[in-house]
Amino acid sequence: MLASTVTRISTVVRYSNLSHIARCTGGYQIVSQRTYANGGEHDLVVIGSGPGGYVASIKAAQLGMKTACVEKNDRLGGTCLNVGCIPSKALLNNSHMYHLAHGKDLHNRGIEFDNVRLNLNKMMEQKTKAVTALTGGIAHLFKQNKVTRYQGHGKITGPNEVTVLNNDGTQEKISTKNILIATGSEVTPFPGIEIDEKTVVSSTGALSLEKVPNKMVVIGAGVIGLELGSVWQRLGADVTMIEFLGHVGGMGIDMEVCKNVQRILQKQGLKFKLNSKVDKATREGNIIKVSFEGVKDGKKEEIDCDTLLVCIGRRPYTQNLGLEELGIPKDSKGRVEVNSRFQTSVPSIYAIGDCIKGPMLAHKAEDEGIICVEGMCGGAVHIDYNCVPSVIYTHPEVAWVGKTEEQLKEEGVQYKVGKFPLSANSRAKTNDDTDGFVKVLADKESDRLLGCHFIGSVAGELINEAVLAMEYGASCEDVARVCHAHPTVSEALREAHLMAYCGKPINF
Ligand SMILES: Cc1cc2nc3c(=O)[nH]c(=O)nc-3n(C[C@H](O)[C@H](O)[C@H](O)COP(=O)(O)OP(=O)(O)OC[C@H]3O[C@@H](n4cnc5c(N)ncnc54)[C@H](O)[C@@H]3O)c2cc1C
Repeated sequence: MLASTVTRISTVVRYSNLSHIARCTGGYQIVSQRTYANGGEHDLVVIGSGPGGYVASIKAAQLGMKTACVEKNDRLGGTCLNVGCIPSKALLNNSHMYHLAHGKDLHNRGIEFDNVRLNLNKMMEQKTKAVTALTGGIAHLFKQNKVTRYQGHGKITGPNEVTVLNNDGTQEKISTKNILIATGSEVTPFPGIEIDEKTVVSSTGALSLEKVPNKMVVIGAGVIGLELGSVWQRLGADVTMIEFLGHVGGMGIDMEVCKNVQRILQKQGLKFKLNSKVDKATREGNIIKVSFEGVKDGKKEEIDCDTLLVCIGRRPYTQNLGLEELGIPKDSKGRVEVNSRFQTSVPSIYAIGDCIKGPMLAHKAEDEGIICVEGMCGGAVHIDYNCVPSVIYTHPEVAWVGKTEEQLKEEGVQYKVGKFPLSANSRAKTNDDTDGFVKVLADKESDRLLGCHFIGSVAGELINEAVLAMEYGASCEDVARVCHAHPTVSEALREAHLMAYCGKPINF
């Protein structure tokens, strides 16, 4: 029974934050007026509370939509907060500190102490504390924004209906104008290798190992493999990474950058077997034997370890979601197919994040979530995937946005390069942290910034300056003429732009 009917008027004024959209539309105003039954039909039900789903839920509620979010896990936040970005960065940060203290680094800076010990339990506790605080923060934000939380498995049982399958076997039906699928992704299994999350682990198990492995083999030297391999190598494991490709860092990385990253990480102690294909892993007592062969020469090798980390990627997660029953198509990689407004073949059902095409990144999922719900309110929907940055949080960090040199060559674009080494940057030198460089790629004629590639301890923070420049269609001269605080590593970014635009940096 519906007690009463209320009318909500939500007015959203969105002046485009991106200059190129603003130029096209002159900014715009969305005024949506809708009527719904109090306590009855929702405007939006979001399935999944990862960075895509929780951000979309909050944004939708802020836009005046009556919003619910269904999450099957006890904790909100999805892969990113629970077993992804957040716990991995906690371990990366703390293992880096241990590495500095344990090695000669701090001694060389005049900070002397003896008997540095690792308390792995405590390190894990700090990670858990960060995860708990952040996931709890989302629950708080849901309350604050009046997003209704349902805990259970969400299944789409009609174009305007989601059924929540509760853990106790009961069901609850929610009727809604719109449905947003934000169910994310899961670890891709390696055929024939069974994950026990103790000694043969996925990224999830690698975030919670109970002791430091003696010998660890990592299958896959992509972004996640490099990060987690670095963590355990810094904590004392002998880590070998086996990679099918001829380079580290996965697809989409600039070749000059990945060669340098590999060299730097090798110097730190990581070992790499590139162009190598793992066939199988077998267990003999406590030893795991990993067999692999050269992709080019077919040479067979075997390596022993006590911990095997399988890190060959992630695949979309859409199990028991009701897509087949509704005839919603997926592509050959199992990703939900959507149009440019993130609508599936059923117009009231949308999808975003890891379960659709595009890079599997938290900030990509977040941005899609925001513009998708703005689109539901009548707004323009635009995302430039070329301006989605990537970061590898090793030390030094590796970050990039836009085109690589290889892509520009393939596209036949006439480009110029501006490069600046961190060894010539005053702040990096002061900090004795000079591994890396900034490389910018710009259109030869117009000077427009086309790509930025950065190896450096704070590259993940500074890449956002290049993203901003690219979003606004800046030239290298534009960036080079902006005053940058001194002494900062960001001056290296400025110098690289200076070199691209006039051929000569000041300090190199
Ligand atoms: C180790 C690791 C490190 C990473 N580091 C980074 C990083 O540093 N930066 C970065 O940008 N990205 C990183 N990622 C990737 C990032 O975590 C994902 O891109 C991001 O979480 C995707 O967000 P999403 O909202 O699409 O999906 P997810 O975060 O996967 O969330 C989906 C949610 O939906 C829920 N769900 C699924 N099906 C249902 C259902 N039927 N009913 C109810 N709930 C359901 C799931 O339980 C989950 O909570 C990392 C990933 C891993 C594994």
